[in-house]
Amino acid sequence: MSDSTDVIVVGAGAIGASVAYHLSLAGARVTVLEKEPRPALHQSGRNSGVVHAGYNLKPGTRKAEFCVEGSRRLRAWCLERRVPLEQGGILVVAVDEDEIPTLEELQRRSDANRVEARIVDAEEIRRIEPHAAGVAALHAPEGASFDSEAFVRSLLDEADSRGSAVQYGVRVAAVVDGGGVARVRTNAGVLEAAVAVNCAGLQADRVAGGVASDVRVIPFRGFYAELVPEREHLVRSHVYRAPDLTYPFLGVHASRRTDGRVLLGPGAMLAPGRESYGLFGVNGADLAGTLAWPGFRALFRDPRFRRLAIREVRKNFRLVDIWKEAAELLPELRPEDLARSFAGNRAQLIRRDGSLVDDFLVRETENCVHVLNAVSPGLTGSLPFGEWVAGLAMKRLESARA
Ligand SMILES: Cc1cc2nc3c(=O)[nH]c(=O)nc-3n(C[C@H](O)[C@H](O)[C@H](O)COP(=O)(O)OP(=O)(O)OC[C@H]3O[C@@H](n4cnc5c(N)ncnc54)[C@H](O)[C@@H]3O)c2cc1C
Repeated sequence: MSDSTDVIVVGAGAIGASVAYHLSLAGARVTVLEKEPRPALHQSGRNSGVVHAGYNLKPGTRKAEFCVEGSRRLRAWCLERRVPLEQGGILVVAVDEDEIPTLEELQRRSDANRVEARIVDAEEIRRIEPHAAGVAALHAPEGASFDSEAFVRSLLDEADSRGSAVQYGVRVAAVVDGGGVARVRTNAGVLEAAVAVNCAGLQADRVAGGVASDVRVIPFRGFYAELVPEREHLVRSHVYRAPDLTYPFLGVHASRRTDGRVLLGPGAMLAPGRESYGLFGVNGADLAGTLAWPGFRALFRDPRFRRLAIREVRKNFRLVDIWKEAAELLPELRPEDLARSFAGNRAQLIRRDGSLVDDFLVRETENCVHVLNAVSPGLTGSLPFGEWVAGLAMKRLESARA
């Protein structure tokens, strides 16, 4: 492989595809290794499909920088490449006066992040979303929906047209330095290239091995309901509840997808396996790994997290609990308007002390770059994020060539 490939990228999700695209633009010869038969079968294909505006992200973080720049670039990319996109804006609703300080904090973050957003009153809420209700809301007109799977395919097509290749059905066990080259251990043998980039999402800590021994991916299951077709008119674009900013989960929201379906969700409960999407699809090794991680046990000792966890578990089992939360935003919603939809698992990195890694995290060794925490809004930020990671890999490629 080292004769025909400069860089091996592990994972054909949005981040791996963006890294491969930007590496191929820079002139590197790239091979993407993906264990599944198709791209975007995990986080990048099982999500809300929201192009986030960046109003909720802490200013100064990589997430904020990449989300704001990524939102603009992603919308332009979709328009140019005919990837389905609908820009109807996002409304973040305060259902009572107690939530207004959260809207004010979001307005401060929007201003610091240079995101277009303003607080609107109850009357304007009804003008923007006629079936939503609240005392005030933050309106971010740049929020949009897009088809994330089509986006990942378009990135890989562009990389392919510049000479990159994707090999499906190749499972990578580990990516390590090997005396001036990157060694990639796979089910098809050991491959070598000058540089390897680990973009394995829910498996990224395992592929990184010792480089990530102080953190672990804990999978959180986001379960969605969706509106029955006759009631889809209740939501024009995106309606969110003012979030609890302690945790990186945005709470129940109603989101119109580009295919017209309206999703309600997602919840966020511990997943029974990193890539298990059914409620009872327990993966023993994954679950044991989560429960044995000191950081998970520390997190669970926090009473606030425990209360949140119990609420989220109930929501995963009972549609009526999703309905109760959503009906506070959309009072005309009836329990029979909801049907079960799909689930997607978030790869959330947790340290040994129980703290959540909040920002994107990338670690480098001599010949390897590991993307370890490509959390939400990873899709929105994927163009600048992938470009940055590709830049790190190019520097390593140039020194390997020197
Ligand atoms: C429920 C949910 C809702 C979300 N909503 C949004 C949203 O609305 N907007 C937004 O911006 N972000 C959202 N996100 C976040 C976003 O989906 C992620 O940040 C992004 O998709 C991460 O992309 P990735 O390429 O890192 O991971 P993935 O998409 O998971 O890709 C990793 C790839 O690596 C492959 N792989 C893994 N292990 C191996 C191995 N050992 N060998 C070979 N291949 C391997 C996998 O098969 C997979 O294809 C959401 C996430 C979830 C889960």
